[in-house]
Amino acid sequence: MRIIVTGGAGFIGSWVCEAYISEGHEVLVVDNLSTGSEDNIPPEAEFIECDVRDFARLEKAFRQFRPQIVNHHAAQINVRSSVENPGFDADVNIGGSLNVLRLCAEHKAEKFIFSSTGGALYGEPEKLPAGESTPALPLSPYGISKLSTENYVRYHSKNHGFGHVILRYANVYGERQNPEGEAGVIGIFCEKIISGEPCLIFGDGEQTRDYVHVSDVSRANLLAATLKEEGTFNIGTSIEISVNDIVRILGEVTKIEFTTIHEKERPGEVRRISLDCSLVAEKLGWSAQATLHEGLSSTWGWFSRRRD
Ligand code: NAD
Repeated sequence: MRIIVTGGAGFIGSWVCEAYISEGHEVLVVDNLSTGSEDNIPPEAEFIECDVRDFARLEKAFRQFRPQIVNHHAAQINVRSSVENPGFDADVNIGGSLNVLRLCAEHKAEKFIFSSTGGALYGEPEKLPAGESTPALPLSPYGISKLSTENYVRYHSKNHGFGHVILRYANVYGERQNPEGEAGVIGIFCEKIISGEPCLIFGDGEQTRDYVHVSDVSRANLLAATLKEEGTFNIGTSIEISVNDIVRILGEVTKIEFTTIHEKERPGEVRRISLDCSLVAEKLGWSAQATLHEGLSSTWGWFSRRRD
């Protein structure tokens, strides 16, 4: 298959490219390198430096590469930036996505795979873990732009004859992770531990997230490429992990006695979230394999090697 991966120079996108290439697919990365890096792109992939908001340049990439599948990872990913500048967030995450969707229709792509969010979509659900039918009540412009794009994906898919799979990621962490992403705390703590500085915890540290390792997320993207059905799936572990748990496990993994300091809770942040992943287990046969201990060990290994 010929697959375009937008955002393929980023953290998750580059893992997805590697997974596709390992299965013999041809990959074209479309990325403006705003938060990604050319070093992340596997050498076997083609690359075009292009902003998804630049319709003319994007059109040229579609015309020349003729993708069968488009996997859309390019996005403004910072929840706090979206609060400060919702217009920019919408411009990239909705406007850019609309360009990609329009070109899928015009160039007769067969399938669109979209990286949405489970961590920032459901707000504060009454029942955890939250299933896909939990009301989507995002607390941030980032969550709103992802939800809106999900709806545009379903609309374009239905009206323009291509299939779609929407993956609602929990908090994705791992090697090459971007500290601005939804699981940024892990990357930030690793860097603080390396530089001997204290790790900053907002509030009491009992706020929870569902942390899924990027190797499991890239495997979900591989399965999504061959799935015959369409659908929207949570991708996580269903386990609630607090910031205090992360501190404890990082202590075990690094064997370093680092210090923590607490600051006031940040407004607008979700208190507790975890995702019910029974639907994706049933339809794709996917479930997270890496334990948090294993995932944090490999992530810490990467951060320490990078320091050396
Ligand atoms: P990342 O910043 O490492 O990757 C995003 C990539 O998109 C970067 O390479 C960046 O250069 C590129 N990009 C940004 N704006 C662009 C534009 N206008 N045109 C072209 N390229 C552009 O972040 P990530 O954590 O790998 O996130 C990848 C995707 O997964 C995003 O859509 C994000 O919303 C989604 N997601 C991530 C998480 C998480 O925990 N990291 C959780 C849920 C969803």
